Amino acid sequence: MDYNFTITRTTNPKEKPAPGASLGFGKYFSDHMFMMDYHEGQGWHDGRIIPYQNLSMDPASTSLHYGQMMFEGLKAYRNPQGKINLFRPDMNAKRLNRTNDRMCIPPMDEDLFIEAVKAIVKVDEDWIPTEQGCSLYIRPFILSPEVSFSVLPAKHYWFVIIVGPVGAYYEGNESKLHGSHIWVEEEYIRAALGGTGFAKCGGNYGCGMKAAYEAKKRGCEEVLWLDAKEHKYVEEVGTSNAFFMIGDTVITSSLSGSILPGVTRDSVLQLLRKWGVKVEERRLEIAEVMDAIENGTLREAWATGTACVISPIGVLHYHGTQFPINNEIVGDVSQRLYDTLYGMQIGTREDDMGWIVEI
Ligand SMILES: *Cc1c(COP(=O)(O)O)cnc(C)c1O
Repeated sequence: MDYNFTITRTTNPKEKPAPGASLGFGKYFSDHMFMMDYHEGQGWHDGRIIPYQNLSMDPASTSLHYGQMMFEGLKAYRNPQGKINLFRPDMNAKRLNRTNDRMCIPPMDEDLFIEAVKAIVKVDEDWIPTEQGCSLYIRPFILSPEVSFSVLPAKHYWFVIIVGPVGAYYEGNESKLHGSHIWVEEEYIRAALGGTGFAKCGGNYGCGMKAAYEAKKRGCEEVLWLDAKEHKYVEEVGTSNAFFMIGDTVITSSLSGSILPGVTRDSVLQLLRKWGVKVEERRLEIAEVMDAIENGTLREAWATGTACVISPIGVLHYHGTQFPINNEIVGDVSQRLYDTLYGMQIGTREDDMGWIVEI
């Protein structure tokens, strides 16, 4: 379908970061942005590409006060044929609608979402970095500029997509994964059943910051969240999904409602099943993980997400003691998953899963 997004090009292009500059994450943004309105009775309309600019909203806008908003995150890569690769954007479109439903934001046609992503990436394709491990990060989000102090769903929304070059997650040597230190969080929680844990909304991140901040002060990169009710079952690692390989079985939390259904999580599960590795999606007690460390059966653990792809867990900090996993050596399964997924994303490996969408 042709949505006829209008394009207004900037007359004042920015200077791009110098080749080899440290790109970071969320430091640079491209020359343009995608924007579209929703009005009750009219639906989503006036999709347009405009010069990157500030959003102007009344200070009484409802999203600023009550957090009715959502976001998504995905990446674009330049492949060796010079085309652009997106990774499973249909999954982001589906998740956007599940989040929207939870946040009382109107749904959007999946096709419209994907075409909007393609359009902004195409207009700013010169911003896709080509250095090893770097990519163009795509951040779609929805918020409302409607003036209201009533705690009610808005009737007018903006859908915005901004994009920008981001650096390698593993700064310096892309092929060299390393194990991170993870704090097992027993005081704070991320999400309770019935809450917004499965939705990609800012509130989840705001509420998780204090735990991550305190974990960093204690020398850890992230926290391992436990369930909200009993603080007994492992859920996620920071803003990534968590996997544990005990014996020859890979275990991850089932999508119970408090877990964010990661696109990377789903891809990892599919690859492992294809490779004939035993996988279980179930509740996993932190006690079972600690027992497995103690009796030597916890072979590997890793986190998954769009930003890192695969991030091995090197050490768990639990009850004042540090427990190394696999002697802090990156495991074969973590490495194979990373090489396979990242290779498909940048186009150096054949995509035999039908996951890559070329622009
Ligand atoms: C986005 C996110 C993930 C990872 O999802 P991907 O689609 O793999 O990037 C995991 N957990 C949380 C809490 C998230 O917000």
